[in-house]
Amino acid sequence: MNEDLLKRIKIAGAKNFESYAQKILEASANNGTFGMELVDLLHDQLPRTSCDNCGKCCNSNSVYSLEYHRIIREVMAKWKPDRILKLIKSLLFFDLRLVEAGDEKRLRCVFRDDITKVCLIHPVRPFSCRIYGLLKENGKRECERVRDLSLPAQTVKEEYLVNLQAKILANSESYEPYEGKGQIHFFPIEFWFFRYIFSPERALQIYKEILVPLSKPLTKMWENQKEHIPDILPSDYEF
Ligand code: SF4
Ligand code: SF4
Repeated sequence: MNEDLLKRIKIAGAKNFESYAQKILEASANNGTFGMELVDLLHDQLPRTSCDNCGKCCNSNSVYSLEYHRIIREVMAKWKPDRILKLIKSLLFFDLRLVEAGDEKRLRCVFRDDITKVCLIHPVRPFSCRIYGLLKENGKRECERVRDLSLPAQTVKEEYLVNLQAKILANSESYEPYEGKGQIHFFPIEFWFFRYIFSPERALQIYKEILVPLSKPLTKMWENQKEHIPDILPSDYEF
């Protein structure tokens, strides 16, 4: 992991905190309402579920850019300013949320309140959280404690979910983190945050040099692509 880059983000974050907060709020406010309505519409087509709410799975997961903006807009509309600032601080100092999940290293989700045991953005939580535990892989669900409240679990087919996601995908940004390994649309929320306060290039650098090495599931995802991931060359980290 690039410790030097992490240090520079923190220094820049402490120095420019107010302007970053402004940027982040403006970027999501300026994103058209069409996309936000589309996200709500598609989320509504997913089955309602309940679970034991132990919070074990509430670690940073990947979201589409439209979902990211939908979340930030919700936060802007409903949260008090001091809470918004706390959230932005937590996104800037993301490595402080590092947790162990089984034998994996992950980032704790910035929206999980472990004291009150709630998801702070439950009405607008992303696709990945909504479908967790719905699909069966090798006859087993990711979490057996997820209960489907509206449809029998067997009716939720992967194809149905893929079709729904395709509509969000068509309206979201995509990037190719590693050359020749294809474009992807879903990134950890921290990636989108840095993409809007810095630039796509800087966010990709943070993704490759910090977020991927920090998160075992992300590292595994890229390792599973088989081909060698190119080395990252040292560059100028001025912010
Ligand atoms: S889905 Fe399962 S692991 Fe996640 S919070 Fe609910 S009970 Fe816990
Ligand atoms: S957004 Fe909510 S449901 Fe999803 S991981 Fe975070 S806290 Fe859990």
